[in-house]
Amino acid sequence: TGEIVALPDIDPSLVKIQDNPKRKTPPPSSKLVFGRTFTDHMLTIPWSSASGWGTPEIKPYGPLVLDPSCTVFHYAFTTFEGMKAYRNEDGTVRLFRPDKNMARLNRSASRIALPAFDGEALSQLIQKLVLMDSEWIPKEKGYSLYIRPTMIGTQNALGVGPSSDALLFVICSPVGPYYASGFKPVQLLASTKYVRAAPGGTGSYKIGANYAPGVVPQSEAAKEGYSQNLWLYGDEHEITEVGTMNLFVSFKKPDGTVELATPPLDDIVLPGVTRLSVLELAREHVKGNKIPGLPEKLEVNERRMVMAEIVEAQKNGTLLEIFGTGTAAIVSAVDRIGFQGKDIPIPVGPDGMGPIAKAVLDRVVGIQTGEFEHEWSVIA
Ligand code: PMP
Repeated sequence: TGEIVALPDIDPSLVKIQDNPKRKTPPPSSKLVFGRTFTDHMLTIPWSSASGWGTPEIKPYGPLVLDPSCTVFHYAFTTFEGMKAYRNEDGTVRLFRPDKNMARLNRSASRIALPAFDGEALSQLIQKLVLMDSEWIPKEKGYSLYIRPTMIGTQNALGVGPSSDALLFVICSPVGPYYASGFKPVQLLASTKYVRAAPGGTGSYKIGANYAPGVVPQSEAAKEGYSQNLWLYGDEHEITEVGTMNLFVSFKKPDGTVELATPPLDDIVLPGVTRLSVLELAREHVKGNKIPGLPEKLEVNERRMVMAEIVEAQKNGTLLEIFGTGTAAIVSAVDRIGFQGKDIPIPVGPDGMGPIAKAVLDRVVGIQTGEFEHEWSVIA
């Protein structure tokens, strides 16, 4: 009585493996559509407030059976991650910075009262799953396995409160290169009609509740000829992020220095793993660990930017390039922003992607595929 007994955390040594007797043949890589094809197995780990994390199971991919009263269906107790694994010619499978995704999933889960877990333990189980389905990872350049860890509240009860039960599951989907035929810049609609996130809100967490409300603004932008929304905040139209990517802007300064800037992390920006990687690589470049293609005189800033600054810089020719970063496309150049009824043209250069975007894309992909040895790339 009164003594605190620690409940069991995720234990990879307990994993029960049930091989899929009906393994499918992966479709030809050229036929892949993002997130539509799933591999033969999935990982599930149940949790309850009474007994902690239960037995991890790797089993045939298939439907979950859930009671209709489950908390996930009513109050959006769901949080997820997006990460990638690559396989090269010799069959080596690599994950990119899985520790960052595990940390972010824990952070998101805690915001919606879902349980914490040992990130290293889940990472080990994900590696096991990925290796079991490694035949599904296309070896061609630009192809990868998109991994979707998800945690949902599964208590069978309608009251709004912390869920006494949860389920962590992981599914995997082989995906093709985002740019199948050359880089295609995206067009953004800087909307003043909708906000994605507000101070004190949940925008910086990767929870399901942040995503469904973005679909109607996205469709409206598409109708007007834009590929994604540029999410603004406040009366000054502060720039936050784009669609489901973080945003980088590059300016030329009077002394010739090139500035690479991205909005600071706070309540209204999701802390992207690609964003962090681009910042770290650019800062390493400044310190002398040169990255081919990045400007000699570079300044890297996490700072507030408002639309007026973009409009002004475009007019006076100091706006160099704008690009988004995220796990799916890695780097996506922007060539046009619609704002208050006018279009702002953004330079992209002859390659369809500015030099900074191209340089960081090449380096990040090089690390992800193992072409460039780096501690961020974890061999499964
Ligand atoms: N912003 C939002 C809203 C996102 O959903 C994502 C995708 N996770 C990102 C930015 C980019 O994050 P990451 O680089 O970790 O994929």
